[in-house]
Amino acid sequence: MDVENKKVVVMGMGKSGLSAARWLAKKGARVTVSEMKEESAFSPETIQQARDRGIAVETGGHRRDTLLASDLIVVSPGVPLDLEPLAAARNKGISVIGEMGLAVQWMDTPMVAITGTNGKSTVTAFVGAMLEAAGYSVFVGGNIGTPLMDYAAGERKADIAVVEVSSYQLDTMEEFRPLVSVVLNISPDHLDRYPSYEAYAQSKLRICRDQGEGEHTVLNDDDEALGRFTPPSPVSVHRYGLEKRKNRQAYLENHGIRATWPGLPGHLFSLEKCSLAGRHNEENIMACVLTGLALKTDPSVIQQTVDRFKGLPHRLEWVRQIRNVDFYNDSKATNVDAAARSVASFGRPIILIAGGRDKGGDYQPLVEASRGKVRRAILLGEARDLLARAFEGKIPYGIAVDMVDAVAQAFAASESGDVVLLAPACSSFDMFTDYAHRGKVFRETVHGIQI
Ligand code: ADP
Repeated sequence: MDVENKKVVVMGMGKSGLSAARWLAKKGARVTVSEMKEESAFSPETIQQARDRGIAVETGGHRRDTLLASDLIVVSPGVPLDLEPLAAARNKGISVIGEMGLAVQWMDTPMVAITGTNGKSTVTAFVGAMLEAAGYSVFVGGNIGTPLMDYAAGERKADIAVVEVSSYQLDTMEEFRPLVSVVLNISPDHLDRYPSYEAYAQSKLRICRDQGEGEHTVLNDDDEALGRFTPPSPVSVHRYGLEKRKNRQAYLENHGIRATWPGLPGHLFSLEKCSLAGRHNEENIMACVLTGLALKTDPSVIQQTVDRFKGLPHRLEWVRQIRNVDFYNDSKATNVDAAARSVASFGRPIILIAGGRDKGGDYQPLVEASRGKVRRAILLGEARDLLARAFEGKIPYGIAVDMVDAVAQAFAASESGDVVLLAPACSSFDMFTDYAHRGKVFRETVHGIQI
């Protein structure tokens, strides 16, 4: 992409916006950063450093005339794509791309791109660890950790980039051709941001649209939408699912994953030493195994990663055992499907702590997963009444005012052998900075229990 002398507006003066603006300025573009917040919300150095690089800074709102006079608009994560001036710019034929969309224009590192409603970070971290163990120099980032723009603009070049991609990032991408794309699942989430489930699914499937021969896409065949989906491009498709079927290259068998690949007929990867709990993680590992095989990774290296990978914090993370009650932190279960899968991961009675900011989904799948498993639900946050209505008459519940109260009520309701599980099914922004903050408060509260 040639941006020399082009008028480029970067919307949002956060970390990735500034990183994109600097890079564009270096490439000779005439850059303006457009920011909703007032100038006083930023340090004078930040503004000065931008201006010193020849970047114009407009604060206190996005100016319609600036946007409409541009050749290209780069949106930072979180800028709503339906903002009126953005829609007007699009109608005028002005390209609108995201930080990741911009980054991939300048990258020639082969990429593994991972999307899905749930499991992206886990699979991204796993694939990163597996490829490092295979001896590659690897960049791991994107929607998790370091923005892809920082990698594209940076000095260090890796053999391969493992990139977590959100639907927002896919919506703001032009051509995108990962060597391997992975779609883990498409379940209702972010319905507050998309007009329909169909629109959300289409956005995720965009990940493999531009791929071609010699490239791979890994799909979860058990997922309703993905099972029915065939990519429009000549990419090689590899499907996995819990049970054996003719079209599947990986499935579960005898505490392991049976995988077939040209030159590797029916290899069994053992899950005996795997630390990740739950069926959903077995699905995630199947995706990782097929990704590894697509990249010609030695099966022994894949097995070693299955045995050693410990999972990420706040994803079904064991915290403490008190009086034979295990406390688990799954604060990252920010939607109904993740929370339902979390509940389904245990074969013993659960005291479930749920609630937070509602995201417009239906709580029934969580109620169904909880039947016969959840002894009591402790509900908190803005969504507590919506959850209470869903649980009413089906699962006993109590209402908590905050996390300390929720943990105290949960512990009081537990019996020896139970699990106390934080799996909120909601976002955290009503009471916490983010899911990690919520998980940290849960952890600290649990560690603070005196016995
Ligand atoms: P993401 O990056 O997509 O949010 P994470 O790996 O951070 O994914 O996991 C988010 C939440 O989803 C966690 O609470 C985890 O327990 C749950 N989860 C992980 N993998 C899956 C899956 N394959 N299906 C459903 N839920 C999952």
